[in-house]
Amino acid sequence: MVQAASAAVERLPNWIGGRFVAAETGHQPVRNPATAEILAEVPQSGPAEVEQAVAAAAAAYPEWRLTPAGDRIQYLFKYKQLLEENLDDLARAITLECGKTYAESVGELRRGIENVELAAGMPLLLQGYNSEDIARGIDEIMIRQPLGVVAAITPFNFPAMIPLWFLPYAIACGNTFILKPSDRTPITAGKLMRLLAATGLPPGVVSLVNGGKAAVDALLDHPRVRAISFVGSTAVARYVYGRATAQGKRAQCQGGAKNPVVVLPDADLEMTTRVVSDSAFGCAGQRCLAASVVLAVGEARRTFTPVLAEAAQARKVGFGLDPEVETGAVITAESQARIEALIAAGIEEGARPLADGRRARVSGYEQGTFVRPTVLDGVPAGGRLAQTEIFGPVVSVIAAATLEEAIAFVNQQSYGNMACLFTQSGAAARQFRHQATAGNIGINLGVAAPMAYFPFTGWKDSFFGDLHAQGRDAVDFYTDKKVVVERWPKEWSRRF
Ligand code: NAD
Repeated sequence: MVQAASAAVERLPNWIGGRFVAAETGHQPVRNPATAEILAEVPQSGPAEVEQAVAAAAAAYPEWRLTPAGDRIQYLFKYKQLLEENLDDLARAITLECGKTYAESVGELRRGIENVELAAGMPLLLQGYNSEDIARGIDEIMIRQPLGVVAAITPFNFPAMIPLWFLPYAIACGNTFILKPSDRTPITAGKLMRLLAATGLPPGVVSLVNGGKAAVDALLDHPRVRAISFVGSTAVARYVYGRATAQGKRAQCQGGAKNPVVVLPDADLEMTTRVVSDSAFGCAGQRCLAASVVLAVGEARRTFTPVLAEAAQARKVGFGLDPEVETGAVITAESQARIEALIAAGIEEGARPLADGRRARVSGYEQGTFVRPTVLDGVPAGGRLAQTEIFGPVVSVIAAATLEEAIAFVNQQSYGNMACLFTQSGAAARQFRHQATAGNIGINLGVAAPMAYFPFTGWKDSFFGDLHAQGRDAVDFYTDKKVVVERWPKEWSRRF
Protein backbone atom coordinates (compact mmCIF):
# COMPACT_ATOMS: atom_id res chain seq x y z
CA MET A 1 0.00 0.00 0.00
CA VAL A 2 1.35 3.39 -1.00
CA GLN A 3 1.13 5.97 1.74
CA ALA A 4 -0.12 9.40 0.73
CA ALA A 5 1.51 12.32 2.42
CA SER A 6 -0.72 12.89 5.42
CA ALA A 7 -1.78 16.42 6.21
CA ALA A 8 -3.97 17.83 8.94
CA VAL A 9 -7.48 18.49 7.65
CA GLU A 10 -7.39 22.04 6.40
CA ARG A 11 -10.29 24.39 5.78
CA LEU A 12 -9.64 25.68 2.30
CA PRO A 13 -9.85 29.45 1.93
CA ASN A 14 -11.11 31.50 -0.98
CA TRP A 15 -8.62 33.84 -2.68
CA ILE A 16 -10.16 37.26 -3.07
CA GLY A 17 -8.50 40.59 -3.76
CA GLY A 18 -5.03 39.08 -3.36
CA ARG A 19 -5.75 37.57 0.07
CA PHE A 20 -6.59 34.05 1.17
CA VAL A 21 -9.79 34.47 3.17
CA ALA A 22 -11.92 32.05 5.16
CA ALA A 23 -15.52 31.84 3.97
CA GLU A 24 -18.34 32.49 6.43
CA THR A 25 -20.28 29.50 5.16
CA GLY A 26 -20.77 25.81 5.68
CA HIS A 27 -18.00 23.47 4.59
CA GLN A 28 -17.98 19.99 3.15
CA PRO A 29 -15.29 17.31 3.12
CA VAL A 30 -13.00 16.64 0.17
CA ARG A 31 -12.08 12.96 0.05
CA ASN A 32 -9.36 10.91 -1.52
CA PRO A 33 -11.51 8.52 -3.61
CA ALA A 34 -8.93 5.72 -3.30
CA THR A 35 -8.91 5.74 0.51
CA ALA A 36 -11.99 7.75 1.59
CA GLU A 37 -9.58 9.83 3.74
CA ILE A 38 -10.74 13.42 4.28
CA LEU A 39 -8.09 15.64 2.70
CA ALA A 40 -9.60 19.06 3.40
CA GLU A 41 -12.87 20.90 3.87
CA VAL A 42 -14.16 23.15 1.14
CA PRO A 43 -16.37 26.19 1.77
CA GLN A 44 -19.79 26.35 0.16
CA SER A 45 -19.59 30.02 -0.77
CA GLY A 46 -22.66 31.98 -1.73
CA PRO A 47 -23.66 35.43 -2.95
CA ALA A 48 -21.68 37.27 -0.23
CA GLU A 49 -18.33 35.71 -1.26
CA VAL A 50 -19.14 36.15 -4.95
CA GLU A 51 -19.95 39.81 -4.31
CA GLN A 52 -16.53 40.30 -2.66
CA ALA A 53 -14.74 38.57 -5.54
CA VAL A 54 -16.59 40.57 -8.19
CA ALA A 55 -15.93 43.82 -6.30
CA ALA A 56 -12.20 42.97 -6.16
CA ALA A 57 -12.15 42.02 -9.84
CA ALA A 58 -14.03 45.18 -10.84
CA ALA A 59 -11.65 47.33 -8.77
CA ALA A 60 -8.59 45.69 -10.36
CA TYR A 61 -9.91 45.93 -13.90
CA PRO A 62 -9.21 49.59 -14.88
CA GLU A 63 -5.49 49.42 -14.04
CA TRP A 64 -5.10 45.88 -15.43
CA ARG A 65 -6.75 46.95 -18.67
CA LEU A 66 -4.27 49.84 -18.97
CA THR A 67 -1.34 47.49 -18.37
CA PRO A 68 0.20 46.74 -21.79
CA ALA A 69 -0.23 43.16 -22.98
CA GLY A 70 3.54 42.83 -23.09
CA ASP A 71 3.66 43.59 -19.35
CA ARG A 72 0.64 41.41 -18.52
CA ILE A 73 2.28 38.34 -20.01
CA GLN A 74 5.36 38.71 -17.80
CA TYR A 75 3.23 37.20 -15.00
CA LEU A 76 2.46 34.23 -17.28
CA PHE A 77 6.17 33.61 -17.92
CA LYS A 78 6.73 33.54 -14.14
CA TYR A 79 3.65 31.36 -13.71
CA LYS A 80 4.87 28.84 -16.29
CA GLN A 81 8.17 28.60 -14.41
CA LEU A 82 6.44 28.08 -11.06
CA LEU A 83 4.08 25.46 -12.51
CA GLU A 84 7.09 23.54 -13.85
CA GLU A 85 8.95 23.79 -10.54
CA ASN A 86 5.88 22.56 -8.63
CA LEU A 87 4.78 19.91 -11.09
CA ASP A 88 5.27 17.04 -8.66
CA ASP A 89 3.35 18.70 -5.84
CA LEU A 90 0.48 19.61 -8.18
CA ALA A 91 0.36 16.14 -9.75
CA ARG A 92 0.21 14.49 -6.33
CA ALA A 93 -2.60 16.81 -5.29
CA ILE A 94 -4.58 15.94 -8.43
CA THR A 95 -4.10 12.21 -7.88
CA LEU A 96 -5.06 12.46 -4.20
CA GLU A 97 -8.30 14.36 -4.72
CA CYS A 98 -9.33 13.15 -8.18
CA GLY A 99 -8.19 9.51 -8.17
CA LYS A 100 -6.38 9.41 -11.52
CA THR A 101 -2.85 8.03 -11.78
CA TYR A 102 0.20 10.19 -11.14
CA ALA A 103 1.24 9.89 -14.82
CA GLU A 104 -2.23 11.05 -15.89
CA SER A 105 -1.99 13.98 -13.47
CA VAL A 106 1.37 14.99 -14.97
CA GLY A 107 -0.19 14.64 -18.43
CA GLU A 108 -3.06 16.98 -17.57
CA LEU A 109 -0.64 19.53 -16.11
CA ARG A 110 1.40 19.46 -19.33
CA ARG A 111 -1.74 20.21 -21.34
CA GLY A 112 -2.67 23.00 -18.94
CA ILE A 113 0.80 24.58 -19.02
CA GLU A 114 0.62 24.55 -22.82
CA ASN A 115 -2.22 27.07 -22.54
CA VAL A 116 -0.14 29.33 -20.30
CA GLU A 117 2.62 29.21 -22.92
CA LEU A 118 0.23 30.01 -25.74
CA ALA A 119 -1.42 32.89 -23.88
CA ALA A 120 2.07 34.35 -23.33
CA GLY A 121 1.97 35.15 -27.06
CA MET A 122 -0.98 37.49 -26.47
CA PRO A 123 0.61 40.68 -27.86
CA LEU A 124 0.51 39.00 -31.27
CA LEU A 125 -2.78 37.12 -30.80
CA LEU A 126 -4.49 40.32 -29.68
CA GLN A 127 -3.67 42.21 -32.86
CA GLY A 128 -6.53 43.51 -34.95
CA TYR A 129 -6.42 44.38 -38.64
CA ASN A 130 -6.91 47.44 -40.78
CA SER A 131 -7.68 48.67 -44.26
CA GLU A 132 -6.37 51.93 -45.64
CA ASP A 133 -8.58 53.92 -48.05
CA ILE A 134 -11.86 52.01 -47.69
CA ALA A 135 -13.14 55.18 -49.36
CA ARG A 136 -11.06 58.10 -50.55
CA GLY A 137 -9.10 59.36 -47.52
CA ILE A 138 -10.91 57.10 -45.07
CA ASP A 139 -9.27 54.27 -43.10
CA GLU A 140 -10.84 51.49 -41.05
CA ILE A 141 -9.27 49.58 -38.17
CA MET A 142 -10.40 46.74 -35.95
CA ILE A 143 -9.05 46.63 -32.40
CA ARG A 144 -9.77 44.16 -29.62
CA GLN A 145 -10.60 45.27 -26.11
CA PRO A 146 -11.10 43.19 -22.95
CA LEU A 147 -14.62 42.58 -21.61
CA GLY A 148 -14.10 43.34 -17.91
CA VAL A 149 -14.87 40.79 -15.18
CA VAL A 150 -15.21 37.22 -16.46
CA ALA A 151 -15.67 33.88 -14.66
CA ALA A 152 -15.08 30.17 -15.21
CA ILE A 153 -16.90 27.25 -13.59
CA THR A 154 -15.00 23.98 -13.88
CA PRO A 155 -15.59 20.22 -13.31
CA PHE A 156 -13.87 17.69 -11.05
CA ASN A 157 -12.10 15.56 -13.64
CA PHE A 158 -9.30 17.90 -14.76
CA PRO A 159 -8.75 20.15 -11.73
CA ALA A 160 -5.68 21.86 -13.22
CA MET A 161 -6.03 21.65 -16.99
CA ILE A 162 -9.56 23.00 -17.33
CA PRO A 163 -9.03 26.15 -15.21
CA LEU A 164 -5.94 26.70 -17.38
CA TRP A 165 -8.07 26.47 -20.55
CA PHE A 166 -9.48 29.84 -19.49
CA LEU A 167 -7.45 31.74 -16.88
CA PRO A 168 -4.30 32.59 -18.91
CA TYR A 169 -6.20 33.82 -21.98
CA ALA A 170 -8.70 35.82 -19.93
CA ILE A 171 -6.07 37.80 -18.02
CA ALA A 172 -3.61 38.14 -20.91
CA CYS A 173 -6.46 39.74 -22.89
CA GLY A 174 -6.81 42.30 -20.07
CA ASN A 175 -9.83 40.92 -18.20
CA THR A 176 -10.03 40.17 -14.51
CA PHE A 177 -11.04 36.62 -13.74
CA ILE A 178 -12.91 34.59 -11.11
CA LEU A 179 -12.56 30.80 -10.86
CA LYS A 180 -15.25 28.62 -9.30
CA PRO A 181 -13.68 25.14 -9.31
CA SER A 182 -15.45 21.84 -8.59
CA ASP A 183 -16.14 21.41 -4.90
CA ARG A 184 -15.01 17.79 -5.25
CA THR A 185 -11.46 18.73 -6.39
CA PRO A 186 -10.75 22.21 -4.99
CA ILE A 187 -7.29 21.54 -3.51
CA THR A 188 -5.50 21.74 -6.85
CA ALA A 189 -7.26 25.02 -7.65
CA GLY A 190 -6.00 26.46 -4.35
CA LYS A 191 -2.46 25.42 -5.24
CA LEU A 192 -2.81 27.03 -8.68
CA MET A 193 -3.80 30.27 -6.92
CA ARG A 194 -0.88 30.15 -4.47
CA LEU A 195 1.53 29.90 -7.40
CA LEU A 196 -0.25 32.74 -9.17
CA ALA A 197 0.04 34.84 -6.01
CA ALA A 198 3.79 34.12 -6.02
CA THR A 199 4.11 35.76 -9.45
CA GLY A 200 3.19 39.11 -7.86
CA LEU A 201 0.01 39.42 -9.92
CA PRO A 202 -1.85 42.57 -8.78
CA PRO A 203 -4.63 41.87 -6.22
CA GLY A 204 -8.07 41.14 -7.73
CA VAL A 205 -6.86 40.28 -11.23
CA VAL A 206 -7.67 36.65 -10.37
CA SER A 207 -9.89 35.44 -7.54
CA LEU A 208 -11.00 31.99 -6.42
CA VAL A 209 -14.44 31.32 -4.98
CA ASN A 210 -15.07 27.77 -3.76
CA GLY A 211 -18.54 26.33 -3.65
CA GLY A 212 -21.36 24.76 -5.62
CA LYS A 213 -24.65 25.84 -7.15
CA ALA A 214 -25.17 28.89 -4.89
CA ALA A 215 -21.82 30.37 -5.98
CA VAL A 216 -22.53 29.52 -9.64
CA ASP A 217 -25.95 31.17 -9.54
CA ALA A 218 -24.50 34.28 -7.92
CA LEU A 219 -21.89 34.55 -10.70
CA LEU A 220 -24.53 33.99 -13.40
CA ASP A 221 -26.77 36.70 -11.96
CA HIS A 222 -24.13 39.30 -11.12
CA PRO A 223 -24.49 42.27 -13.47
CA ARG A 224 -20.74 43.03 -13.41
CA VAL A 225 -19.77 39.57 -14.75
CA ARG A 226 -19.56 39.90 -18.53
CA ALA A 227 -18.73 36.35 -19.62
CA ILE A 228 -19.03 32.80 -18.32
CA SER A 229 -16.92 29.80 -19.30
CA PHE A 230 -18.31 26.48 -18.11
CA VAL A 231 -17.25 22.83 -18.37
CA GLY A 232 -19.30 20.02 -16.83
CA SER A 233 -22.29 17.78 -17.45
CA THR A 234 -24.76 18.59 -20.22
CA ALA A 235 -27.70 19.26 -17.89
CA VAL A 236 -25.73 21.91 -15.98
CA ALA A 237 -24.08 23.28 -19.15
CA ARG A 238 -27.51 23.85 -20.70
CA TYR A 239 -28.76 25.50 -17.50
CA VAL A 240 -25.69 27.76 -17.15
CA TYR A 241 -25.82 28.76 -20.82
CA GLY A 242 -29.54 29.60 -20.61
CA ARG A 243 -29.29 31.62 -17.40
CA ALA A 244 -26.12 33.47 -18.43
CA THR A 245 -27.24 34.39 -21.94
CA ALA A 246 -30.75 35.37 -20.76
CA GLN A 247 -28.95 38.12 -18.80
CA GLY A 248 -26.95 39.25 -21.79
CA LYS A 249 -23.69 37.55 -20.87
CA ARG A 250 -21.36 35.90 -23.31
CA ALA A 251 -21.18 32.16 -22.55
CA GLN A 252 -19.25 29.10 -23.68
CA CYS A 253 -20.51 25.93 -22.02
CA GLN A 254 -18.95 22.52 -22.62
CA GLY A 255 -21.13 19.57 -21.70
CA GLY A 256 -20.98 15.80 -21.39
CA ALA A 257 -20.07 13.15 -23.93
CA LYS A 258 -20.64 9.61 -25.15
CA ASN A 259 -17.75 9.14 -27.51
CA PRO A 260 -18.06 6.54 -30.28
CA VAL A 261 -15.05 4.76 -31.72
CA VAL A 262 -15.46 2.96 -35.06
CA VAL A 263 -13.15 -0.01 -35.65
CA LEU A 264 -12.92 -1.25 -39.25
CA PRO A 265 -11.79 -4.80 -40.03
CA ASP A 266 -8.49 -3.53 -41.48
CA ALA A 267 -7.49 -1.68 -38.27
CA ASP A 268 -4.11 -2.54 -36.74
CA LEU A 269 -5.29 -4.83 -33.96
CA GLU A 270 -2.40 -4.32 -31.54
CA MET A 271 -2.34 -0.54 -31.81
CA THR A 272 -6.14 -0.20 -31.76
CA THR A 273 -6.45 -2.34 -28.63
CA ARG A 274 -3.78 -0.37 -26.78
CA VAL A 275 -5.15 3.02 -27.82
CA VAL A 276 -8.85 2.25 -27.26
CA SER A 277 -8.13 0.61 -23.93
CA ASP A 278 -6.15 3.66 -22.74
CA SER A 279 -8.91 5.98 -23.93
CA ALA A 280 -11.74 4.01 -22.33
CA PHE A 281 -10.12 2.92 -19.08
CA GLY A 282 -7.50 5.65 -18.47
CA CYS A 283 -8.58 8.30 -15.93
CA ALA A 284 -11.07 5.57 -14.87
CA GLY A 285 -13.17 6.57 -17.90
CA GLN A 286 -13.75 9.99 -16.34
CA ARG A 287 -12.50 11.93 -19.33
CA CYS A 288 -14.84 13.86 -21.60
CA LEU A 289 -12.82 12.36 -24.48
CA ALA A 290 -13.02 8.77 -23.22
CA ALA A 291 -14.02 6.11 -25.74
CA SER A 292 -17.41 4.89 -24.55
CA VAL A 293 -18.99 3.04 -27.48
CA VAL A 294 -17.08 0.80 -29.89
CA LEU A 295 -18.78 0.27 -33.24
CA ALA A 296 -17.14 -2.90 -34.44
CA VAL A 297 -17.65 -3.11 -38.19
CA GLY A 298 -18.02 -6.54 -39.84
CA GLU A 299 -15.23 -8.95 -38.86
CA ALA A 300 -13.87 -6.48 -36.29
CA ARG A 301 -16.48 -7.62 -33.81
CA ARG A 302 -15.02 -11.13 -33.86
CA THR A 303 -11.35 -10.07 -33.91
CA PHE A 304 -11.27 -6.90 -31.83
CA THR A 305 -13.86 -7.45 -29.07
CA PRO A 306 -12.13 -10.37 -27.31
CA VAL A 307 -8.71 -8.67 -27.29
CA LEU A 308 -10.25 -5.50 -25.88
CA ALA A 309 -11.84 -7.60 -23.12
CA GLU A 310 -8.45 -9.18 -22.39
CA ALA A 311 -6.83 -5.73 -22.21
CA ALA A 312 -9.59 -4.61 -19.83
CA GLN A 313 -9.01 -7.55 -17.53
CA ALA A 314 -5.23 -7.10 -17.59
CA ARG A 315 -5.31 -3.48 -16.44
CA LYS A 316 -4.02 -2.84 -12.95
CA VAL A 317 -6.56 -0.94 -10.85
CA GLY A 318 -5.70 0.86 -7.63
CA PHE A 319 -4.40 3.99 -5.92
CA GLY A 320 -3.01 6.41 -8.49
CA LEU A 321 0.23 7.09 -6.58
CA ASP A 322 1.22 3.42 -7.00
CA PRO A 323 3.42 3.53 -10.13
CA GLU A 324 2.07 0.18 -11.38
CA VAL A 325 -1.53 1.36 -11.43
CA GLU A 326 -3.15 2.07 -14.81
CA THR A 327 -6.73 2.80 -13.71
CA GLY A 328 -7.45 4.77 -10.55
CA ALA A 329 -10.59 5.26 -8.47
CA VAL A 330 -13.81 6.91 -9.63
CA ILE A 331 -14.58 10.16 -7.89
CA THR A 332 -17.27 9.24 -5.31
CA ALA A 333 -19.33 6.36 -3.96
CA GLU A 334 -22.31 7.88 -5.79
CA SER A 335 -20.40 7.73 -9.08
CA GLN A 336 -19.44 4.13 -8.39
CA ALA A 337 -23.08 3.22 -7.67
CA ARG A 338 -24.27 5.06 -10.80
CA ILE A 339 -21.72 3.31 -13.03
CA GLU A 340 -22.55 -0.10 -11.59
CA ALA A 341 -26.28 0.53 -12.08
CA LEU A 342 -25.65 1.46 -15.75
CA ILE A 343 -23.64 -1.74 -16.27
CA ALA A 344 -26.60 -3.68 -14.85
CA ALA A 345 -29.00 -1.78 -17.11
CA GLY A 346 -26.88 -2.69 -20.16
CA ILE A 347 -26.96 -6.37 -19.18
CA GLU A 348 -30.73 -6.13 -18.73
CA GLU A 349 -30.98 -4.65 -22.23
CA GLY A 350 -29.29 -7.80 -23.56
CA ALA A 351 -25.53 -7.00 -23.48
CA ARG A 352 -23.03 -9.73 -22.53
CA PRO A 353 -20.35 -8.68 -19.99
CA LEU A 354 -16.97 -9.87 -21.32
CA ALA A 355 -15.29 -8.06 -18.44
CA ASP A 356 -17.48 -6.98 -15.50
CA GLY A 357 -15.92 -4.39 -13.21
CA ARG A 358 -18.66 -4.16 -10.59
CA ARG A 359 -17.96 -4.73 -6.89
CA ALA A 360 -14.25 -4.12 -7.40
CA ARG A 361 -12.12 -4.56 -4.30
CA VAL A 362 -8.52 -3.39 -4.20
CA SER A 363 -6.40 -4.92 -1.49
CA GLY A 364 -5.21 -2.29 0.97
CA TYR A 365 -7.81 0.19 -0.32
CA GLU A 366 -11.06 -1.40 0.84
CA GLN A 367 -12.68 2.02 1.37
CA GLY A 368 -11.85 3.19 -2.17
CA THR A 369 -14.42 3.68 -4.91
CA PHE A 370 -13.12 1.51 -7.73
CA VAL A 371 -14.76 0.13 -10.86
CA ARG A 372 -12.67 -2.29 -12.91
CA PRO A 373 -12.56 -1.89 -16.70
CA THR A 374 -15.74 -3.31 -18.17
CA VAL A 375 -16.62 -4.47 -21.70
CA LEU A 376 -20.26 -5.05 -22.62
CA ASP A 377 -20.71 -6.84 -25.93
CA GLY A 378 -23.84 -6.62 -28.04
CA VAL A 379 -25.28 -3.44 -26.53
CA PRO A 380 -28.42 -2.65 -28.57
CA ALA A 381 -27.80 0.43 -30.74
CA GLY A 382 -31.29 1.76 -30.07
CA GLY A 383 -31.22 1.10 -26.30
CA ARG A 384 -30.80 3.51 -23.43
CA LEU A 385 -27.22 2.58 -22.52
CA ALA A 386 -25.99 3.32 -26.06
CA GLN A 387 -27.05 6.95 -25.52
CA THR A 388 -26.27 7.50 -21.82
CA GLU A 389 -23.02 9.04 -20.59
CA ILE A 390 -21.54 6.56 -18.07
CA PHE A 391 -18.39 8.50 -17.10
CA GLY A 392 -16.66 5.38 -15.86
CA PRO A 393 -14.33 2.69 -17.31
CA VAL A 394 -17.01 0.97 -19.38
CA VAL A 395 -17.07 0.21 -23.12
CA SER A 396 -20.26 -0.79 -24.92
CA VAL A 397 -19.61 -2.78 -28.11
CA ILE A 398 -22.19 -2.41 -30.87
CA ALA A 399 -22.01 -4.42 -34.08
CA ALA A 400 -22.24 -2.50 -37.36
CA ALA A 401 -22.40 -4.04 -40.83
CA THR A 402 -20.72 -1.17 -42.70
CA LEU A 403 -18.83 2.09 -42.18
CA GLU A 404 -21.97 3.94 -43.33
CA GLU A 405 -24.05 2.25 -40.63
CA ALA A 406 -21.43 3.19 -38.02
CA ILE A 407 -21.39 6.83 -39.19
CA ALA A 408 -25.20 6.87 -39.07
CA PHE A 409 -24.98 5.78 -35.40
CA VAL A 410 -22.44 8.53 -34.63
CA ASN A 411 -24.65 11.12 -36.29
CA GLN A 412 -27.90 10.26 -34.52
CA GLN A 413 -26.26 10.64 -31.11
CA SER A 414 -27.23 13.68 -29.10
CA TYR A 415 -23.63 14.24 -27.93
CA GLY A 416 -20.89 15.34 -30.32
CA ASN A 417 -17.70 15.77 -28.32
CA MET A 418 -15.48 13.28 -30.15
CA ALA A 419 -15.67 10.45 -32.69
CA CYS A 420 -12.74 8.22 -33.70
CA LEU A 421 -12.00 5.82 -36.53
CA PHE A 422 -9.44 3.02 -36.63
CA THR A 423 -8.46 1.91 -40.11
CA GLN A 424 -5.56 1.69 -42.58
CA SER A 425 -7.75 3.10 -45.37
CA GLY A 426 -7.23 6.75 -46.27
CA ALA A 427 -10.52 6.82 -48.18
CA ALA A 428 -12.46 5.55 -45.17
CA ALA A 429 -10.67 8.08 -42.96
CA ARG A 430 -11.60 10.90 -45.30
CA GLN A 431 -15.25 9.81 -45.46
CA PHE A 432 -15.40 9.67 -41.67
CA ARG A 433 -13.73 13.04 -41.20
CA HIS A 434 -16.11 14.56 -43.73
CA GLN A 435 -19.38 13.06 -42.48
CA ALA A 436 -19.15 12.44 -38.72
CA THR A 437 -21.05 15.06 -36.69
CA ALA A 438 -18.67 15.48 -33.77
CA GLY A 439 -16.36 18.38 -33.07
CA ASN A 440 -13.14 16.51 -32.26
CA ILE A 441 -12.24 13.71 -34.66
CA GLY A 442 -9.54 11.09 -34.07
CA ILE A 443 -8.11 8.93 -36.83
CA ASN A 444 -6.19 6.03 -35.28
CA LEU A 445 -6.25 8.04 -32.04
CA GLY A 446 -8.36 7.44 -28.96
CA VAL A 447 -8.21 10.81 -27.18
CA ALA A 448 -8.41 13.50 -29.88
CA ALA A 449 -7.60 16.35 -27.49
CA PRO A 450 -6.76 19.50 -29.44
CA MET A 451 -3.48 21.23 -28.67
CA ALA A 452 -3.73 24.66 -27.02
CA TYR A 453 -3.41 26.39 -30.39
CA PHE A 454 -6.56 24.67 -31.70
CA PRO A 455 -10.09 25.12 -30.33
CA PHE A 456 -11.66 22.36 -28.21
CA THR A 457 -14.61 21.91 -30.53
CA GLY A 458 -17.44 19.90 -28.99
CA TRP A 459 -20.69 19.86 -30.99
CA LYS A 460 -24.39 19.19 -30.36
CA ASP A 461 -25.25 18.54 -26.67
CA SER A 462 -21.54 18.62 -25.82
CA PHE A 463 -21.31 22.38 -26.34
CA PHE A 464 -23.53 25.44 -25.99
CA GLY A 465 -22.15 28.63 -27.48
CA ASP A 466 -20.16 29.79 -30.48
CA LEU A 467 -16.57 30.34 -29.42
CA HIS A 468 -14.72 27.36 -27.93
CA ALA A 469 -11.95 27.09 -25.33
CA GLN A 470 -8.26 27.52 -26.31
CA GLY A 471 -6.43 29.10 -29.22
CA ARG A 472 -7.83 31.93 -31.34
CA ASP A 473 -11.40 31.20 -30.16
CA ALA A 474 -10.29 32.05 -26.61
CA VAL A 475 -9.00 35.44 -27.77
CA ASP A 476 -12.27 36.14 -29.58
CA PHE A 477 -14.29 35.02 -26.56
CA TYR A 478 -12.43 37.23 -24.10
CA THR A 479 -12.43 40.40 -26.21
CA ASP A 480 -14.90 42.73 -27.82
CA LYS A 481 -14.08 43.84 -31.33
CA LYS A 482 -14.23 47.55 -32.00
CA VAL A 483 -14.14 49.00 -35.49
CA VAL A 484 -12.98 52.57 -36.02
CA VAL A 485 -13.57 54.39 -39.31
CA GLU A 486 -11.43 57.52 -39.60
CA ARG A 487 -11.24 60.53 -41.89
CA TRP A 488 -8.40 63.04 -41.54
CA PRO A 489 -8.86 65.54 -44.38
CA LYS A 490 -5.63 66.69 -45.97
CA GLU A 491 -6.78 70.33 -45.73
CA TRP A 492 -6.47 70.12 -41.94
CA SER A 493 -2.79 69.29 -42.06
CA ARG A 494 -0.48 72.02 -40.87
CA ARG A 495 2.93 72.63 -42.22
CA PHE A 496 5.53 71.67 -39.59
P1 NAD B 1 -20.99 18.90 -13.04
O1 NAD B 1 -21.89 19.37 -14.12
O2 NAD B 1 -21.61 18.14 -11.90
O3 NAD B 1 -20.24 20.14 -12.34
C1 NAD B 1 -19.53 21.08 -13.11
C2 NAD B 1 -19.50 22.40 -12.35
O4 NAD B 1 -20.84 22.89 -12.19
C3 NAD B 1 -18.91 22.29 -10.94
O5 NAD B 1 -18.15 23.45 -10.69
C4 NAD B 1 -20.14 22.23 -10.05
O6 NAD B 1 -19.90 22.76 -8.76
C5 NAD B 1 -21.16 23.06 -10.81
N1 NAD B 1 -22.55 22.59 -10.63
C6 NAD B 1 -22.95 21.31 -10.42
N2 NAD B 1 -24.29 21.25 -10.38
C7 NAD B 1 -24.75 22.51 -10.56
C8 NAD B 1 -26.05 23.08 -10.62
N3 NAD B 1 -27.14 22.35 -10.47
N4 NAD B 1 -26.14 24.41 -10.85
C9 NAD B 1 -25.04 25.18 -11.01
N5 NAD B 1 -23.78 24.67 -10.96
C10 NAD B 1 -23.64 23.36 -10.73
O7 NAD B 1 -19.82 18.05 -13.73
P2 NAD B 1 -18.70 17.16 -13.05
O8 NAD B 1 -19.33 15.93 -12.48
O9 NAD B 1 -17.85 17.99 -12.17
O10 NAD B 1 -17.82 16.77 -14.34
C11 NAD B 1 -18.12 15.68 -15.16
C12 NAD B 1 -18.90 16.11 -16.37
O11 NAD B 1 -18.18 17.11 -17.08
C13 NAD B 1 -19.10 14.98 -17.37
O12 NAD B 1 -20.41 15.07 -17.88
C14 NAD B 1 -18.07 15.26 -18.43
O13 NAD B 1 -18.37 14.73 -19.71
C15 NAD B 1 -18.06 16.75 -18.46
N6 NAD B 1 -16.83 17.28 -19.01
C16 NAD B 1 -16.88 17.82 -20.24
C17 NAD B 1 -15.74 18.30 -20.81
C18 NAD B 1 -15.76 18.88 -22.19
O14 NAD B 1 -14.72 19.37 -22.62
N7 NAD B 1 -16.87 18.86 -22.89
C19 NAD B 1 -14.52 18.25 -20.11
C20 NAD B 1 -14.52 17.70 -18.84
C21 NAD B 1 -15.68 17.21 -18.29
